[in-house]
This record gives sequence, structure tokens and C-alpha cells, in this order.
Amino acid sequence: MSVSVSPSKRRATRRGERVGTLLVFDIGGSNTRGGLYDLRTGRIVRRQTIDSDVLTVGGTSAVDPASRLVDGLDRLKRSLIDDAPVIGAVVGFPGPVSDGTVRSAPTLWPGEAFGPFSLRNRLEEAWRGTPVIVLNDVSAAGYAYAAQEEQDFCIVTVSSGIGHKVFIDGEPIVGALGAGGEIGHVRVRYRGPSVRCECGGIDHLGAIASGRGVLRLARMRAAADPRFVSAWLGRACGSPEAITNERIAEAFRAGDPWTVDVVRTGVEPLGWMLGLVRSLVGIERFVVVGGFADALGDKLCVELARAAARADWDRTGHWERRVVPGKLGDDAGLLGAAIAGARAFA
Ligand SMILES: [Zn+2]
Repeated sequence: MSVSVSPSKRRATRRGERVGTLLVFDIGGSNTRGGLYDLRTGRIVRRQTIDSDVLTVGGTSAVDPASRLVDGLDRLKRSLIDDAPVIGAVVGFPGPVSDGTVRSAPTLWPGEAFGPFSLRNRLEEAWRGTPVIVLNDVSAAGYAYAAQEEQDFCIVTVSSGIGHKVFIDGEPIVGALGAGGEIGHVRVRYRGPSVRCECGGIDHLGAIASGRGVLRLARMRAAADPRFVSAWLGRACGSPEAITNERIAEAFRAGDPWTVDVVRTGVEPLGWMLGLVRSLVGIERFVVVGGFADALGDKLCVELARAAARADWDRTGHWERRVVPGKLGDDAGLLGAAIAGARAFA
């Protein structure tokens, strides 16, 4: 499998049977989840969610990003479990990861420069005796879906950013440096005004088709378009500044034409990208997950399928069957981390 453990730690944990507790974490742009996974029952037995700001900006005296992150995760660990032994910890991280080393993280630290650091080594130092795996958060969620259905698929996250991972034979294909699966930072063309991405790039997919991107577009259009006031969204929000992702999702699900057109414009480049992914590697199934995707509902997949079909060389269709909503909800990241941990440690 593509996750790795220090060889000495692996030996130390291989003696036991498939019993014990795993610590699992899913770091997100807005919230970070932690949990305890019971290997014997295959269930998450305790959960805790904190604001990701605790890990990135506040609540700690540490100055560098790596130390703030380690301090924050340590606090979350202590809120889940005192000093009781666990057989290992698995961390899903929102950015490219290879061999436990975090290479970039614009979702957590927009615009803040930092060199790659081994989050695995830092956590293993902090949590003496506990072996740690760090893997990309979308890869972690993908393991949860790979355990349930087909082994070849593409998982796509639509939340505060955009990410994806192509899974072949149940494993994410990310390359030696973990660079694969980062469509969110590819420059795309779309019908709205130019946008700067949190990584500093211009017109990156993640700045356009994400929750943040669609919200920005809706506010911009609302300020310039007199039809906004009489649209469902306009009546619900009153002013462009009052628009929220929740209201957009509500109006989209209700079929408000003004809002549907905003969402369509925003997510069109993502659909185009899915068409490209299929043309590159022949993937036939796309599982769409993430907070904004869940809020928009199944109709998001219809919009993505339409845009993908327009980008596809293969005119036989079937995109409406290829793009499907993920059904595991918020727990996918924790469950997938647990699956990766169970394979490595148990
Ligand atoms: Zn970017």
C-alpha cells in the first residue's frame, strides 16, 4: 500500500492480534475531526471535532506552522484519550504527502510559506511509542469507498477547496512525491471573472468550483445583476453580502434558476476536468464527496455529468451514471484512515 510506517515501529506493532484502538484524524480547511477506532468491532467509538483554526493560527504559543499543527493535534488527542495506549495513529492531511512528509498546504495556511516537514516524525516524537501514518485526506476518504465498492474509481472532493484521487486496484495513484490528485491547483478556463487561488495561483479549479469559489461568484453576480432581488436567493438573503453557502445550497436544491446558473458556471470547469481524467486513465466511476457537494445534493452530479459529457471525446454518453454522490458523509475520512491504519498496524 502507499502509506508507510517506520520499519522499527512496524515490527513493534506486528505482534498483536487484530485488537486494540487506533487514533484517527481528518484535518480539514474549516474543521478537524478526531476519533478512536476499535479494531475489534470495526467502529469509531469516540469522536471530537474542533475548529481547524486551533491547529493553524490560535490557541498555541508555537510560532512555526509545523509546531502549531503538532500542538493542536496533541490537544485533540488528549481530548479523545488520556495516556491509555493506542496501537497507532493515522492522520489525513489536506495537501500532498509522501512518506509522512507534508509538502504543501495552502488550505491550512493560505499564502504562508513553509518548507516540507515530516509530520509523521514530529508526531512520533510528541507521542512517544505511538507509530504514526500521515496520508492525504482525500486518499483516506478514498480507502473508505474502496472498501465498499469498485476498486477503480476517482474520488472528488467539493468543499472549501477541490481535490481528487484516482484509485486503481483499491490504491490511490499519486506518484513518488504525492503530487497526483491535486486538480484543485490546475489553471482552468471559466465564464466568470479572474480569481486568485489560496495558493497564489490564478484561476485554479479549487478557487472557482469550490464552496468558496461559488460563494464569491454568487456575491459578485448579485451585486451586478438586477434580477438577483427577485430571485429565490435574493428574496432569502436580501443583499449580496448576506449570501452564504447554506443559502446557495438551499436555493440550488429548490431549483432557483438564478442560483442554478451561478452553480453551473462555477462547477463547469470541474465537470470538464472529470472528462479529462477519464480521457487520461479511462476511469468509469466518479464519487463526489465533501461538505459543499453534500449540501448541493444529487443535482450537483447532474451538472458535473453534463459538463463532463461536453468535454469527452467519447460521444456515447453515460456520464449521468458515472458521476455519483458519495454516501458515507463526514465519517469517510476517519473510516478510511482507520482502514489504512488497520492494514499497517494490526
Ligand atoms: Zn491553487
